[in-house]
Amino acid sequence: MGKLDGRVVIVTGAARGQGEQEARLFRAEGAGVVVADVLDEQGQALAKEIGALYVRLDVGREEEWRAAVDAAVQAYGHVDGLVNNAGILRFNSLLDTPLDEFLEIVNVNQVGCFLGIKTVAPRMSDGGTIVNTASYTGLTGMAYVGAYAASKHAIVGLTRVAALELADRGIRVNAVCPGAVDTAMSNPGAVAEGAMDALYRKLVPLGRIGRPEEVARLALFLTSEDSSYITGQPLVIDGGWLAGVAVV
Ligand code: NAD
Repeated sequence: MGKLDGRVVIVTGAARGQGEQEARLFRAEGAGVVVADVLDEQGQALAKEIGALYVRLDVGREEEWRAAVDAAVQAYGHVDGLVNNAGILRFNSLLDTPLDEFLEIVNVNQVGCFLGIKTVAPRMSDGGTIVNTASYTGLTGMAYVGAYAASKHAIVGLTRVAALELADRGIRVNAVCPGAVDTAMSNPGAVAEGAMDALYRKLVPLGRIGRPEEVARLALFLTSEDSSYITGQPLVIDGGWLAGVAVV
């Protein structure tokens, strides 16, 4: 028995990174999976490998959301879960951030999450689940990622409101808040494995960067019956980073 037998879940930004691991794990747990991304080649290859459906979906575009949900329902007959995972990160000081850059980040991270909830929830089975990917920076600040942190704080707010508004249909809405996770986003220069270890040993109580598979296991928990009485919550997965600072 898989934890998601008979369920159908859309995962955005699923061509690589955390979304890829979520798609793989959910499929292994018996779900019908929709791999949604703008990276067509990688997304299609993954879907083929794991036996999922690939749809091209730019999460900032409402009409593409409608088409993606149509395709999911056509392929599987129903939708029971959504993981709003797609996201982008840019480094800049607030004062140097051009408005276009700020809006680009908001459009993918925040508007994408809003459109996912707005488009999928009405077509979702009662008792469904939504997992939004916020961040450690959805709960605290981090210099030089102002637009990103603002969009991730907004996702926590959206999560709470959606949980309240969808609870009467038994739809649970939660957010994952990862700290640093080893993906292309956190390591855009593909710095060699191990080269950042000293940094994470200093920053993170557990002394290492997180793995995308670990975030996928939290998303599975929030998508499965194991979390049946949890809704409206930001769940932090950060190796203890947010717990506080050590002064000695
Ligand atoms: P990643 O860059 O490997 O994956 C992001 C995915 O989103 C990619 O496949 C990308 O193509 C897709 N994407 C980007 N824009 C899109 C759009 N407009 N429409 C659809 N798909 C789009 O990075 P990741 O670390 O796997 O990131 C996954 C999520 O986790 C993001 O929301 C990110 O903000 C969040 N997060 C990451 C970290 C980290 O340290 N890696 C920490 C906290 C939160």
